[in-house]
Amino acid sequence: MNYKSTRDNGVSVTAAQAIAQGICGDGGLFVPEKLPRFSYSDLCGMQHLGYAERAERILTAFLTDFTPEEIRDCVVKAYTGGKFDNDNPAPFTYLQNGKVNMYMLELWHGPTCAFKDMALQLLPHLLTKSLQKIKSGKTAVILVATSGDTGKAALEGFKDVEGTKILVFYPENGVSPMQKRQMDTQEGGNVSVCAIEGNFDDAQTGVKKLFTDRELNRLLEQNGMMFSSANSINWGRLLPQIVYYFSVYCDLMAHGEIDREGEEINIVVPTGNFGNILAAYYAKKMGLPVKKLICASNANNVLTEFLNTGVYNRSRPFHTTISPSMDILISSNLERLLYDLTGGDSAKVAGWMKELAVSGKYRVDDAVLARVQEQFFSGFCDDEATKATIKEIHNTENYVCDTHTAVAVNVYHQYVAQTDDTETPTVVVSTASPYKFAGSVLNAITGDASAASDFDKVKELSVVTGTPIPAPIAGLESKPVRFCGRCTAAAMQDTVLQITGIARK
Ligand SMILES: *Cc1c(COP(=O)(O)O)cnc(C)c1O
Repeated sequence: MNYKSTRDNGVSVTAAQAIAQGICGDGGLFVPEKLPRFSYSDLCGMQHLGYAERAERILTAFLTDFTPEEIRDCVVKAYTGGKFDNDNPAPFTYLQNGKVNMYMLELWHGPTCAFKDMALQLLPHLLTKSLQKIKSGKTAVILVATSGDTGKAALEGFKDVEGTKILVFYPENGVSPMQKRQMDTQEGGNVSVCAIEGNFDDAQTGVKKLFTDRELNRLLEQNGMMFSSANSINWGRLLPQIVYYFSVYCDLMAHGEIDREGEEINIVVPTGNFGNILAAYYAKKMGLPVKKLICASNANNVLTEFLNTGVYNRSRPFHTTISPSMDILISSNLERLLYDLTGGDSAKVAGWMKELAVSGKYRVDDAVLARVQEQFFSGFCDDEATKATIKEIHNTENYVCDTHTAVAVNVYHQYVAQTDDTETPTVVVSTASPYKFAGSVLNAITGDASAASDFDKVKELSVVTGTPIPAPIAGLESKPVRFCGRCTAAAMQDTVLQITGIARK
């Protein structure tokens, strides 16, 4: 199977090339030329497998230039080596909330306590194998723009991985205290972290510019290096995210929660860069029985507006919220959805992306909008509603969810109120441990607004809710801070030249 660019159908590269490169030279994103299908009997066949074996089945259908041994080696290293605090890296917890059945798909049992681990524990293995396959012989310089969780998960995944260097940019005022602490204390000889003066969009736009800067790419090449990406623009990030949607469906079958062929589920995803929900969309197209994909946003509701009206308009105030990993106005992966919904019309997609870059806005045609609305329900909520939802779920279900997951629960309630669909079993994607956002979660549950230290709030949350503090969070308090650099978005290139050692030559 080969991969095309969303902005140029003439491009055709292998999976290894797409993963090694991260983003296409024309600024487009790599997409598979067709999606494999999984039938009901395939699902039955996966029902009694472990997570790593399920991952192997899905990956095999996409990575046709990898050998079965290579794929097995990658998934075994990622998912069975004790990096997750649970045998099943993606377990669900059942909540009967009022009239509805919710299955909380907890994707935060990995080393950094957010769902990004699901992909970023695997990506370094896929990437090093891809580099060998394309015989690059170069060191991969992984540039990451993060709204908080990707950065830490990428650092943890790539630390001391041979043949790679990793540099993470995060918005200095756009991440939670725990997220910042997690990144600033990162260990490893090949890692760097830099705060930038700006928001996530500034960081992401800056990184995309660096990727496609010819002169900079030439300089890297002369020095035996090449750029790659650990953001969800990289196909190697997105592919592992398809797996857990199949996996939870298989778990629901195995538990008898789903007992009919073709029985549909809803999937609710708290969304920022549109990566996680796009993976759910691909799973649906691959044959997973899904009724609605429910896209939940916070006050940065650019996607809600787009999915409801067909107009994408990034020219709006940027809100810093208590769900910072969703504080995004340019959702990169939407480009992949548009490519798919236009039947692969790369010229049209390239045109819209150009309009977005030039005027901050584009409108899709009615046919595309109709297809969007068939598949998606979309809503948003602000910080007050997010907090009220955390409190309600805690009071009624004795379940503690983080701020991002609470946005999803809130929007799911909106969906039920508008559609009366109380019947369809619904998977709510729980994207982070509440302890990553302990201050906000504690405030939601107890009203606490004290100036106690971040670590005191973590401990308090544990006492109040009777839940254990995850080991990776507990361990942070005693770790020394290694990174405190900051730069402007305009100076990101200089930072890259310094970190790679090119500037000194
Ligand atoms: C990254 C992230 C999101 C948003 O995911 P996208 O794939 O960017 O849409 C939601 N919640 C948490 C906790 C995250 O880290």
